[in-house]
Amino acid sequence: LFISFEGIDGSGKSTQARLLAETLREMGRDVVLTREPGGSAGAEEIRALVLQGEPDRWSPETELLLFTAARRDHLERTIRPALAAGQIVICDRFADSTRMYQGRNGLRPEVDALHDLMIGMEPDLTLLVDMDPAAGLARAKARATAEERFEDFGLPLQEQMREGFLALSREFPARFAVIEGNQSIETVAQDILSVVKTRL
Ligand code: C5P
Repeated sequence: LFISFEGIDGSGKSTQARLLAETLREMGRDVVLTREPGGSAGAEEIRALVLQGEPDRWSPETELLLFTAARRDHLERTIRPALAAGQIVICDRFADSTRMYQGRNGLRPEVDALHDLMIGMEPDLTLLVDMDPAAGLARAKARATAEERFEDFGLPLQEQMREGFLALSREFPARFAVIEGNQSIETVAQDILSVVKTRL
């Protein structure tokens, strides 16, 4: 079972991914918790190339190629071996983040072409943690670190990204579940667990 978490920055998806992994392990399941960009040694190096240093070091096209290269390595080294061994893979962001972030400047056709060519798989279940854009932005700003670039899109763009993720959930209804993120951490975790249990 391959589960991805998606949502805007500050939506709480990393916390929820960790909580879900802990709960499934307590239930006796073998879980690999991973993240993008990153999740394998090579992909973590690419993450540093993309998220550290000058924000405009790479063109949007080059950034898309780097994210795709990172995902390919992550798939080869981490995700596919884990799935082959029967483990549950929980991934904090996957290709939907690339559709949203790298695809946002009119590059969605290139995103889709590269995905078909080099990735060619989707999660079984994508949990979209839907979050009020202002609250998400405040959270993301509060924990932004000096080392890694945090893209402060401002509220109108954050709103647009939220709408974009919701549009993706309508584009891929079979694998998406939209989770109400504007609730306590515990309640969000319970909602997520009840969706996941239907797929176990
Ligand atoms: O999810 P995480 O906080 O690790 O993401 C780090 C940064 O990378 C965020 O600012 C996020 O918006 C950005 N990102 C991106 N394209 C992706 C995935 C993440 O621009 N495909």
